[in-house]
Amino acid sequence: MEKVRLGRTGLMVSRVAFGGIPIMRVPVGDAVRLVRETVTLGVNFIDTAHVYADSEEKIGGGIKGFQREELVLASKSPANDRKTFDEHLNLSLKRLGVDYIDIYQLHNVASPERRDAVFAPGGAFEGLREAVKAGKVRFPAFSSHHLPIALGLMKSGKFDVAQLPFNYIDHDAEKEAIPLAKELDMGFIAMKPMGGGLLDDAGLSFRYLLQYENIVPDPGIENIKEIREIFGIVEKRPCLTTDDREKIQKLRVEFGPSWCHRCDYCQPCPQGIPISMALGARSGLKRFTLERARSMVGSAIEKAKSCVECRVCVSRCPYHLEIPKLLKENITYWQQGVSSG
Ligand code: SF4
Ligand code: SF4
Repeated sequence: MEKVRLGRTGLMVSRVAFGGIPIMRVPVGDAVRLVRETVTLGVNFIDTAHVYADSEEKIGGGIKGFQREELVLASKSPANDRKTFDEHLNLSLKRLGVDYIDIYQLHNVASPERRDAVFAPGGAFEGLREAVKAGKVRFPAFSSHHLPIALGLMKSGKFDVAQLPFNYIDHDAEKEAIPLAKELDMGFIAMKPMGGGLLDDAGLSFRYLLQYENIVPDPGIENIKEIREIFGIVEKRPCLTTDDREKIQKLRVEFGPSWCHRCDYCQPCPQGIPISMALGARSGLKRFTLERARSMVGSAIEKAKSCVECRVCVSRCPYHLEIPKLLKENITYWQQGVSSG
């Protein structure tokens, strides 16, 4: 697969990365084989996270036997404080079976509170900075669902790589973040390039994404068929057609009223409902094991049942989502998914 330069890291990475969420629900042997076949196909960029259950271990199994320097590995820690960060990083190294990780991200720095915590004395950023000095990490990075916070982190000069959601529906990053990454020569990883499993036309998704030369889409991969399909699309170096543009416009209108961008501008809910999490029921059931989805989304759905329809959140949502109605739909979807799953 064609390689592209990941901003000022200078790393040459495959045009598309391998996202390590879905292998959580793949049996170990199959997951290890999938990683191995993916690397053999020419994908050298693999992204995972501390919180993706056994994903790091499965990737560690799959990359055994390949030259370490031919691979670009990325993982993430959700820690706020340095001590926990150090524990996460050491565990990531152990699970992956490597001496260093190329790109280590502070995972989802998406609220002012989390941003302040990671930069506080004794915070996770201190751990990341020291890990770079110690050679455990090559390049500091972050991921975030919150665009203004992400832009601030990019401008801080403290990170070489940013990971933000980006697909043809969730396209806010194209106005400022993607041009800024280019201007600052930062690596840009496009999270949820297929909308976290909700956009099923891979051709359209990648024709849209590949217009941007300085981004690397990071789709979650569950089987070799998926990566072969993406590989086939990428190898053709496709261009977005007029028909594609029209289709995207229609889909934006169709999805717009229900698409949660996970920005959390709607918070705080007086009832304490984690709204974006509860609105992620469909994606959660598609991407995670039932057990994992339960642990991540189950309690949010339970909490969502306490919505009193005060509409405070609706007034704050920049996308004007009908949140109380969507919560009800997600509760129903969840109950059906859990009972059939
Ligand atoms: S409408 Fe429901 S979810 Fe929104 S703020 Fe009120 S209680 Fe919370
Ligand atoms: S409901 Fe609206 S404000 Fe809340 S996370 Fe989703 S898109 Fe953002």
